[in-house]
This record gives sequence, C-alpha cells and structure tokens, in this order.
Amino acid sequence: MKVTRRDLLVWSAGAAAGLMVTPVPWKVLDDVSIWSQNWPWIPQPPRGPVEVKQSSCTLCPNGCGLRVRMVGGWPVGVAGVASHPVSRGALCPLGFGAHQLNWHPQRLRAVRHRGNTSTWGEAHAAFAKACSEGPVVVIDGWPGRAASQVLENFAKSRRGEYRVVLSPETRALLPYERWSGAPATSLGYDLENAQTIVSFGAPLLDGWGAPGRFTRLWAERAAGMTDPQLRLIQIDATLSRTAARAWRWAPVRAGAEAALAAGVARVLLEEHLVASRGPMPHTTSAEAADQTGLTADAIRDLARTIVARGPVVALANDDNPAIAALNVVLGAVGTRGGVVRRSKTAKSYVAADAEIRSARAVLINSSVPWDFVPRTDAEVFRFAAWDGGSSKADWLLPAPGFLEELTDVPAAPAMATETYAVAQPLAKAPHEVRSAAQFLAGIDASLPTAEKIIRARCQDLFHGRAGTLCAQDQTPVSKVASAQKLEEQLWNGAVWVGEPFRAESFRCELKEWPTVAASVPSQNWLSSWSAPILPPLASKVFQESDLRERPEGRIA
Ligand code: SF4
Repeated sequence: MKVTRRDLLVWSAGAAAGLMVTPVPWKVLDDVSIWSQNWPWIPQPPRGPVEVKQSSCTLCPNGCGLRVRMVGGWPVGVAGVASHPVSRGALCPLGFGAHQLNWHPQRLRAVRHRGNTSTWGEAHAAFAKACSEGPVVVIDGWPGRAASQVLENFAKSRRGEYRVVLSPETRALLPYERWSGAPATSLGYDLENAQTIVSFGAPLLDGWGAPGRFTRLWAERAAGMTDPQLRLIQIDATLSRTAARAWRWAPVRAGAEAALAAGVARVLLEEHLVASRGPMPHTTSAEAADQTGLTADAIRDLARTIVARGPVVALANDDNPAIAALNVVLGAVGTRGGVVRRSKTAKSYVAADAEIRSARAVLINSSVPWDFVPRTDAEVFRFAAWDGGSSKADWLLPAPGFLEELTDVPAAPAMATETYAVAQPLAKAPHEVRSAAQFLAGIDASLPTAEKIIRARCQDLFHGRAGTLCAQDQTPVSKVASAQKLEEQLWNGAVWVGEPFRAESFRCELKEWPTVAASVPSQNWLSSWSAPILPPLASKVFQESDLRERPEGRIA
C-alpha cells in the first residue's frame, strides 16, 4: 500500500480552525503513546531544567514552526508556533509526534550492507572505491538547503549529477518553468491575495503544502460564509474532504481535468470574458462536456463563475500543462493573486526519476521519500533515519533523525514569498549517525560544512538589507545590528521573510494550447497519491488508527 505525507495531512484537514475540536491529532498522539509504552528501549527523560526552544520541523520541506519542550536537554513535546509566517501555528499529525520518532522500533541503528550488519568504515571504503571507478549521482529530496549545496558540489566534482525528487506542489509549477525559463522551485502561488481559487484536484484542505497556510486562510476568509471573500472551486472526481468544504464542487470524470481546463479556457476566450492572452484550445465545449461528464452549459457557467471575482488562480495537483495554460488565459501568471516568482536565485534541477545510465554509484539523501527507487544498476548508498522495509539500496546508512542535526529551512514549496529559517540540533542520536553531507566530507575534505554555508547565507541576508525577521516581534533586516545577531536570532527560531514579489519579474509566453496526453485514471484513490515523506511510524499510525476515510465513502 502506498501512503503519503498527504494522507497524513488529510487527518489534519481544517487543522487551523479545528485542531482543538477534531479528535484526529489527539487520537494519533494517543496511539503513539500506547505503542511507545510498549517499547522498553524508550528512555525516561532525566530530571532537569525545563525549557522551551523554538525551531522548525525538518521532516518535510514545509518546515513548520515548532515550539519544543525540553527536559534535561531532551525534547519531550512539540507544538506549533502561532506567529510562524508559514505554518501559523498548525502542524500535521506526524509533526505532533515527531519527537517520539527517534525511538521508533524501525529506527535504522547500524550500517547495513545487503541485509547484513556492516560498519561505517566498510561503507566509507566501498563508496571511496566506487568514486574512484566512475561518476556518482546524488539524489536529494529537499533542494536549496546548505546540505544540498554540499551534495551538489560533490556530485559535480565527481563528473556526476545532482538530481532532485520534487514535491507534487513544485511539479505542478513545471509547465511555467518550460514556458518562461524561471525554475519551478522559484515559483509559488499568491493565494493570500487571490479571491477565487480553482483547484483541479489539489487537496487544499486535505494537506496541500504547509498545513497551516491554506487552512488558516480558509478559516479567516471563507469558512462558514455563504458568500466568502475567498472562493474555492474544487474540481474533483470524488467528494474529497476539500471538495466537501469548498465553496463549489464540480465533479468531473477522473483524469478529465485537462479537458475541463481546455473547455473553460475556450469559453473564456470565445465570450471575451478575459483579455485575450493565450491561444485558443482545440477542444470545444461539447467535446469537453463529453470527456468530463459535465454538460456544456455547466462548463460555460463554471467559466463565468471563475472570472466573476478576481484575482483568480488555477491550481493543479501535479505537472499538468493544460491547467497552467488556463492560468495564462486568465492572466494569472506574474500577477498579484496568481502564479508569482518569489526568487531570482533558485535553480532548475534534473528530475530524479529519469533513468540513470552511466553512474558507478548512486547516493540517496535521507530527505528522499522512502518509496523512491532509482532506475539504475549502479551501487546504491541510501541514507535514512528509519528503515522503511524493502529497498533496492545496497547500503543503508543511519542518518540523523528528528532535530538531531543542524539544517537550514528554505521557503516551503509553492510559497509566494521567500523565507529562511534554521533548525538547530536539539536531540542527541542514540547511536552513531552521519548525514550524507558529513559522509561526503569524509571523502572530500575540501567540501564546506553545512554550518559554514549557513553562516555565509546569514551574512548574505544581512548585507542584502531586505525583508523582515519574524520572531515575537517583527524586525526589518535593515535594523538588525550585525550579521552575527541575525544568525543568532535564526538559530533561536526566528524566520526571515523576504519582500513580496514584483509582477514584472515573471512572464510566460504561450503560442499554442499544449497537447496533453489523456491521463489514465488511477485504479483506486490510493494509487493516485504521490511520493511520500514516510518514516515507518507514519504508516503504522495510518494502518492502525483507521482514521482515513474509506474509498467507497468518497465516490461522488
Ligand atoms: S507538514 Fe512537514 S514540516 Fe509540517 S509538521 Fe508535518 S512533517 Fe513537519
């Protein structure tokens, strides 16, 4: 069974408004407590001073703000940070129990080589030998961090390649990258300024992006209102939780989202409902009706409703050029409330799923979802904090777990504004662990450390004099006394937030309506969910808690 972080987040739908009343996180915590009472190796926290540290969750690239309760130097509890500019106080259920993950039975405690216990020395020797024999491909699941830069530098110095597993939110931005040249990782949706959002299957209230971002927005601007300030129109084959709570739900046949986007765009252009900005789709309303299961009148109504209150933006749940083209037609690219460019420094990356042809070794960072399997015959060295079961890896290398290493936290996928935070190490690993960056430093001593890169980034932020430091108070960077002070504040849990985007920084030219191969509907709702961030505890919680709505309950 394939389970995703999104599945976990489904349980926290409405987290912002409903966390206190929904039983879901509390049920998850209860289950975790019951299991953990049966784990004899769980340490009893020592008596000692109680303190609260502020940090970021590093289990996935959303980097939600955390308040970590420490007793005697051990994290014993986590909570959200209400003032955090991205997560705004919310955490997903996985985040709530994250401090217990480090003691999970499936924690990877020793180096393993093809199923047998091995040593760091043997792993190091095998990797050094592989490096001397051919190129190395390094795969990362969370690009943009200081550690990512170490991995990228190493791959390039070995005539290899640095590849990335992108989140579905970032993959949905790939068409704009192809049409404008602006990297998908530099783009985001300005949801905060949109008035109508048309979601083609993006589970906005089921765990899309950082859990607090849209749920807070929804709670403030739409929940319970008959004529909300923020209109969410959900295009979904089934009555998902997002569809059930949306302002409008348009049920279409599974896999017909691109046809509907083309049908809507055609009505918009034919009826001059938008200033003509994009090419006319070949699909007629009648053809779109035929493919989607909606009537031609319903498609026309939908088109008129969409433009009734702007700014409007369409969201896809993955790489879907037709939905991106609809945004071009709507004039929602590079404009307030639409698809915006938040960064000029982010890069494009080679996707990790393409076949790896000529590598001697492949190194997979612990940020890569467990069910990612590289298409290669090369020797695979995989870093992981938890052993997720069968894997194609030749080597399994124990990586730091939750809050056991220093890492920086760049902007969450699809955010409209740049952010930067630092998560300091707050927990000690119960056995020997190494991050991929530390392991590579043992092979190539000239690589910079993550700490050094983070310091340089703090200095860049200070000298840029732009943006704001958000902690208890908000301080413009121009008023921060020194780079060292700025770094200190980030280490203590502050978040740097960049300037809002500028519309002129991003343009998308589209001459022809994109041809989209008809997508094959997945056989069941589970198989349509994409790559997870999945520590094994998550699947255990998922399987045993029985919290997920059953498929038959979701059929429209
Ligand atoms: S969404 Fe990601 S970063 Fe946020 S609490 Fe959950 S696992 Fe942590």
